[in-house]
Amino acid sequence: MIYDVSIIGGGPAGIAAAIFLKRAGFKVILFEKNNLGGLIRNANSIENYLGIKKIDGVKFANLIIKQFNIHKIEVIFEEVLEIKYAQNYLTLTSINRYESRTVLISTGTVSKKINYFSSIYNTFVFDDLFKIINDKKFKNIIIIGGGDVAFDNALNLFKNNRKVTILIRNKVKCLKSLEINAISNKINFFENIEILGFEIYDNKINLRTNCKNFHSDCLLIAIGRKSIIPKININSMKEGIYFAGDVNNSIFRQLSIATGDAIEKAMLIEKFLKNKEE
Ligand SMILES: Cc1cc2nc3c(=O)[nH]c(=O)nc-3n(C[C@H](O)[C@H](O)[C@H](O)COP(=O)(O)OP(=O)(O)OC[C@H]3O[C@@H](n4cnc5c(N)ncnc54)[C@H](O)[C@@H]3O)c2cc1C
Repeated sequence: MIYDVSIIGGGPAGIAAAIFLKRAGFKVILFEKNNLGGLIRNANSIENYLGIKKIDGVKFANLIIKQFNIHKIEVIFEEVLEIKYAQNYLTLTSINRYESRTVLISTGTVSKKINYFSSIYNTFVFDDLFKIINDKKFKNIIIIGGGDVAFDNALNLFKNNRKVTILIRNKVKCLKSLEINAISNKINFFENIEILGFEIYDNKINLRTNCKNFHSDCLLIAIGRKSIIPKININSMKEGIYFAGDVNNSIFRQLSIATGDAIEKAMLIEKFLKNKEE
């Protein structure tokens, strides 16, 4: 079986492109290493997507999965490890290889880590948010970071009955509405924090800073994200390979941008495949 398009990543970008291309009559296969829906599942509250006044991330992810499922698009729940080219594109997972005429990479981003804390067992990055939410022993959480994700996470954890403190190296740089929401929920945040060291005791963490000592059950690092792409093993860049969504725009990470970019790339793929047929 040779597919027309192999889509790597089942977040909003991959799903938008898959629906567009399937409706255009192409043979589409989509790969997802975790759950369909992507990063937006973690959003505390989405209030800027046209047509939807306010919705939480899990509900939004479920809506787009429901829409995706209507189209009966083939999904492989495996991580794509490599993309090769030999007449057609080969998408490789640890189990199988799949052949397609084009590839769309919509793999999004991963959280940045702080190596300094790598020895602390109870250190999480944003991508692990649900591990904290689902583990009741983490009652008192310190978030490191001062942007949208740090504040959104704090609100999310607060909603799940956790005590949260945000430590910010410089100044708050999240959306004003998030900051106001945090203040009204009495979430403590501290600016101009320099971390001087840490100790672990009874599975708890003591962080020493230039301000005071902070105690917590775990740390959540929310200092930004970077693009993630599988290995691309192609000698010279060929036509027929496209990138869409956050993987392309790791600074401007928004649903509208990711899905708009995906539709543009899907239309380019449609044009490319039709030109090849002529
Ligand atoms: C806390 C938070 C709140 C947010 N709130 C909003 C908001 O209110 N409004 C808004 O517009 N945007 C918001 N965003 C941004 C929004 O979530 C992203 O812009 C959007 O999810 C990007 O979609 P994407 O498909 O490009 O990437 P992603 O959603 O990251 O999806 C990529 C998918 O690819 C999969 N993948 C990665 N590598 C592989 C591989 N090798 N093989 C197979 N699968 C792979 C991943 O598992 C993932 O499912 C928020 C983000 C966060 C983190």
